[in-house]
Amino acid sequence: MQVWKFGGTSVGKPERMHSIKNLITEDGNRKIVVLSALSGTTNALISIGESLKSHNDAEATQKINELYAHYESFIKELYSTEAGYAEGKAIIEKEFSFIRSLVNIKPFSVKQEKEIVAEGELLSTQMFEAYLREEGISAALLPALDFMLIDADNEPVLKFTEEKLGAILGQLTDKQIFITQGFICRNPRGEVDNLKRGGSDYTASLIGGAIVAEEVQIWTDIDGMHNNDPRIVKKTFPIRELTFEEAAELAYFGAKILHPSTITPAKMKGVPVRLKNTMEPAAYGTLIADKTSDREIKAIAAKDNLTAIYIHSTRMLNAYGFLRRVFEVFEKYKTPVDMITTSEVSVSVTIDNDEHLEEIMAELRQFADLEECDKDQTIVCIVGNFSADKEGIALKVLEAMKNIPIRMICYGASEHNITLLIHGKNKAAALNALNERCFLYEDAMKDIFSAP
Ligand code: ASP
Ligand code: MG
Repeated sequence: MQVWKFGGTSVGKPERMHSIKNLITEDGNRKIVVLSALSGTTNALISIGESLKSHNDAEATQKINELYAHYESFIKELYSTEAGYAEGKAIIEKEFSFIRSLVNIKPFSVKQEKEIVAEGELLSTQMFEAYLREEGISAALLPALDFMLIDADNEPVLKFTEEKLGAILGQLTDKQIFITQGFICRNPRGEVDNLKRGGSDYTASLIGGAIVAEEVQIWTDIDGMHNNDPRIVKKTFPIRELTFEEAAELAYFGAKILHPSTITPAKMKGVPVRLKNTMEPAAYGTLIADKTSDREIKAIAAKDNLTAIYIHSTRMLNAYGFLRRVFEVFEKYKTPVDMITTSEVSVSVTIDNDEHLEEIMAELRQFADLEECDKDQTIVCIVGNFSADKEGIALKVLEAMKNIPIRMICYGASEHNITLLIHGKNKAAALNALNERCFLYEDAMKDIFSAP
C-alpha cells in the first residue's frame, strides 16, 4: 500500500481534482489518498474564526457567504451529472450549516476555532469521494478524526494510528482507494484539533509510518526539492535523491516544499518519501530514503531574519557550567537556538524568535559580557554527505564565499550539514556563489540528471 498526499493547489480547482482522479487510478495500486483543503480555504476559515473571536459576527457571516459562493461554483464544474452535483451540494450545505452554527456559540473559544479550520479538509475529501463515485470509482472515505491523535504536548500518537487505522483497513480489504483528511486530528480531550499549518504532509507520513507503507508520495506543484532557492538562483535543478537526514535539514532551513516534521515517522519506519509534481507527473521528483547515491554536496538552503548574540565570559576561562547557564536562559524563555559557535571564552548563538530578546540579554548580562546583537542575519545551510573521512568539502564552500563576509561557521555538528551565518543583504550573492562553485563548476548536472 502507498500513501499519496495532495496539497491545496493540487485540489484547488475542479480540473485539478479531475486529473488527480486519473493519477490515483492509473497504476491500479492500492493507496491511501490524503487531501488538504482547497487552496485558500484554511486561510479563509482562520479569518472567519478571527472575526468571531473579536465579536464581529456580521463580518464573519460575510466571509462565510463568500467562501460558500466559492464552493458553490466549484461543485458546478467538479461534477458532470445531476446526481453528482446533488451530492456535492448536500455536502457543502451540511458543512456550511455547521460553520454557520458556530457564529451563535458564545464565547467563541479555541475549541471552536479548531473545529472551524478542520472544515477545509472535511469538505475537500467528501467532495472528492463523491466525485470518484460519480466516475464509477468506489473509494472508502476514512475519517481522520477516528485514527489521528495528538497527546498533551501536541505530539502525534503513532501507536494509536497503528491500532485504529489497522483495524479500519482490516474491515475494508476489498477496497483499492482510500481517501482521508490531512492536517486534522483529535486531542486528549477528544476535541477536534490539528497538526499545525501545512500539517497534511505530516499526516501522510504518520499514516505511512503507521501502516509501514511501501512509499509515501507528496504531490505538490513543483518538481521536487531543488538544489538551491529558484527564486534567487537561476540555474537550479531538482535533487533526485536525499537521505532522511538531509531532507530534514532542508525542510527546516527554508525549503518550503515539505513540513519539517514530515520526515520523522517515515524515517523511523524506513518508509521512503517521494516528492512529485502534479503538473508533471512523469518527472522523477525527489526520493527521500535511508541511503542515496554518493554525491557529496546535495543542496543549499537559507533561513532569514535571525538574530546573532555574542556572549563573552572572560572570567570563566577553563571553567565549566558556562554553557549550561547560557542555555538555561534560552530554555526559560522557550526560545530555540538555531546555530552555536564557541571559543574558549565566548559563545555566539542565533535565534529566530526575538520576542524575549530583551529579557534574554538582561539575564545573560548577569554572568557574561554581551555586545550589541546582530539583526537581519541569514543562515546558509549546505546539505549533503560530509562524513568525517571526506576531504576538501569545506574548501569548496569557503572558496565560493571568498568575497562574502562570514559571521559564524559550523562544521562537524552532523555529517549532513555545513552552516554559515551571513548578513541578510549578502544572501543572494552567497547562494549564487555556492551554486556556481559546488554545482555548476563541478558539472554536477550530469550525474544528477542521469537516470538512477
Ligand atoms: N490545510 C492546511 C493548511 O493550509 C494543512 C495543509 O494544507 O497541509 O495549513
Ligand atoms: Mg504544504
